[in-house]
Amino acid sequence: MKIAVIGAGIIGATIATRLISTDHEVTIFEPDPDGLPTSSGNASLIALPEIAPIASPGILTAVPKWLLDPLGPLTLRWKDVPALTPWLLAFLASATPARGMRARTALTFLMRSALKDHQELGQQAGLTGHLRQTGYISVHDTGASVDAALREAAVVKTALGYDFTRLTPGEARQMVPQLEGPFAGAVHQPVYWTATDPLAILRHYQAYATGKGRLIPARAERLRQTEAGVEVQASSGSETFDKVVVAAGVWSRELVRRLGAKVLLETERGYNTTFTDLGWNLPMPLGFADHGFVATPLVGGLRVGGAVELAKPETSPNFARAKAMRTKMRRYVPSLPEEGGAEWMGRRPSTPDSLPVISRHPGDDRIVYAFGHGHLGLTLSAVTARLVENLLKPGSADPTLSPFSINRFQ
Ligand SMILES: Cc1cc2nc3c(=O)[nH]c(=O)nc-3n(C[C@H](O)[C@H](O)[C@H](O)COP(=O)(O)OP(=O)(O)OC[C@H]3O[C@@H](n4cnc5c(N)ncnc54)[C@H](O)[C@@H]3O)c2cc1C
Repeated sequence: MKIAVIGAGIIGATIATRLISTDHEVTIFEPDPDGLPTSSGNASLIALPEIAPIASPGILTAVPKWLLDPLGPLTLRWKDVPALTPWLLAFLASATPARGMRARTALTFLMRSALKDHQELGQQAGLTGHLRQTGYISVHDTGASVDAALREAAVVKTALGYDFTRLTPGEARQMVPQLEGPFAGAVHQPVYWTATDPLAILRHYQAYATGKGRLIPARAERLRQTEAGVEVQASSGSETFDKVVVAAGVWSRELVRRLGAKVLLETERGYNTTFTDLGWNLPMPLGFADHGFVATPLVGGLRVGGAVELAKPETSPNFARAKAMRTKMRRYVPSLPEEGGAEWMGRRPSTPDSLPVISRHPGDDRIVYAFGHGHLGLTLSAVTARLVENLLKPGSADPTLSPFSINRFQ
């Protein structure tokens, strides 16, 4: 089958790899093949226990306090609020216990095979040793925060069987000696895996897919449904394919809308700083639960960042947010320098219910969508690739994929 994949971030690159391995003729459209998209600079976690949707009754009580701090874990670009309003209203509507439970069940389904899918896809593409089981420690400022994390970890244990341990500050310091500052307690979850470097993994899949398939270094502007197939109208010209997969991160929404379908997809921007010359590194990733950021040891350095800034994708970055996270981390890890390192901003493509869109276009199974992975795009890339491959096969769609259907926005 002649298949076009639109976008070569981690979602598009893993899908293209998977399709090439199953003997399709694959063409990738990517306007910026050497660029550094969201998939290149993320926190590198294979976050298998993260099945809680962002919208929850708990978050609604925390949001007003966070919004008062312009450099806190969550901010809104106020000028962008009119454009963000439909998404924000849907986010609020998702924050009910019943909807939260539905989202958890759906994410649990993806997490069950996420690691195995990564390992299999890596093997197909000659990529090994790129993931290691590091575990993860969340660090908490108050006893109440530790208790909340333990409650969440217990829910995850029921859903997926993953163990966890409560740690005193002393026990946490034995595992991570750099944690010299004060905190109330910590929770250790051994099941987290860490990728050695998200950029290296992205480039490997891109090179594999474009080496065996075809790369068109152009932006797909519009898709047109014709009797002969699906025409991709790109900045380089037009070409017709049997099937098309849209995996262009947050920019997917324009292609969806031009096809007459609806979607709520906005940018949760995140910031980080990567230090490559510290002379030391953390033995495992740390999460600063009350401040919405993490510190991850990569193969070539330490990356510190996260947080959420809701803004239009094209709004210029505010790197004071990266600095604010460095400053906060120094309370816990005083040896971290306040300055230095390379700052970066990425755009999480996010739906209001925290579920990706892995779905056929309404009424046309020649077009498949794979975007909206929010905070979990690296973790869920390989499982998404396998599910997309199934959606491209003839026949009715698997009903277990209904939570990820684009029909929820129609
Ligand atoms: C600070 C931060 C930390 C994160 N940490 C983690 C983590 O630890 N673990 C995890 O699992 N996830 C993490 N994420 C989330 C993860 O990075 C994203 O979910 C993921 O990168 C999204 O991948 P994507 O391929 O959908 O989008 P992108 O990486 O944005 O790729 C989209 C690609 O499509 C191309 N494109 C755009 N428009 C078009 C068009 N019209 N035609 C053709 N191509 C087009 C773009 O050039 C781009 O290359 C983090 C994100 C951030 C910001």
